[in-house]
Amino acid sequence: MRPMLRRRFLGALVATGTVARWAWSQQQLPPQAAGRIVLERPVTGQPHQGKVLLALQAHSDDIPLMAAGTVAKLIEEGYTGYLVRATNDDMGDAPGLGTLGTIGENVLGNERDTAEVAPVLGCRRHFDLNYNNHRMADVSLNELIGRIIFLIRLLKVDTVICWDPWAHDEENPDHYTLARAVEAACWMAGRAYDFPEQFAAGLEPKTVADKYYYARRPEITRVVDISRQIDKKVDANRANVAKGPAGHLGSRLRVELAKRHQRLPLLGDDDLSADRNYIREFVMAQSRELGRQYGVEYAEAFHYIAPGAAGADRDPRIDTYVKEHAVPTK
Ligand SMILES: [Zn+2]
Repeated sequence: MRPMLRRRFLGALVATGTVARWAWSQQQLPPQAAGRIVLERPVTGQPHQGKVLLALQAHSDDIPLMAAGTVAKLIEEGYTGYLVRATNDDMGDAPGLGTLGTIGENVLGNERDTAEVAPVLGCRRHFDLNYNNHRMADVSLNELIGRIIFLIRLLKVDTVICWDPWAHDEENPDHYTLARAVEAACWMAGRAYDFPEQFAAGLEPKTVADKYYYARRPEITRVVDISRQIDKKVDANRANVAKGPAGHLGSRLRVELAKRHQRLPLLGDDDLSADRNYIREFVMAQSRELGRQYGVEYAEAFHYIAPGAAGADRDPRIDTYVKEHAVPTK
């Protein structure tokens, strides 16, 4: 801004008494800045009716492990949900997790698992972007941003759930590459000049209002009570057979113990009970421990970015101020 214009602009703000509030808004101090963690509780009815949720993961087990309860909760509360998986999971998983297979079997298994996970969580459909597993650092960031912007505009996304682009202790390049692209796309999708060919195809700008970011070591600003959705979270992880610490590991353990003439009462009398009880006891332990800390049965933690927190957006409080204080001219 040129000095003269800047002076006039600030003068206008002082004249309307807006300057203090405007300065406050530039400091980006949402409620959590004071160290307050919001506990998002269950709500009755469907207050989110008409809103759209985009849940993004790099791999087939990310959302099931990190945020499945919250995805299911928001959809139960009215959101229309969509699931995006960025890679094709061709690198499989660590020994002892998921199922052993060739690279081709890994791709097919995870493709099928994701198609199972989406409806368990209540998602209307899912999209596989099909980048190579562990190789997303090679991907053009602008290509990825453009693809996500397309989805945000096409589906008219209000809220995203994704890996946190700002989190610590992250080792997997797929996680932070996807997260960086999503962060940029949420903002750019609302602009009028970015990817204009999409407008020619009938899409319109759409800004994402709020974001739930999950992470290995999250900067926690919001804890979501997922106690009512725990069965869906268990089943989403049970559907993750090719990858992850859940799938059919419970029934597999039951078979191994039987060969040694042993049994665990926890695993019940059939494969379905074995898988579900194993997942609830072992894989959900972290959700249970977090819930205990916040006085609920099961919970998930997020770095939550609230509506209006994006730095370059027009502060909605200015409109509110004008509405309350504008007087007729003589
Ligand atoms: Zn992952």
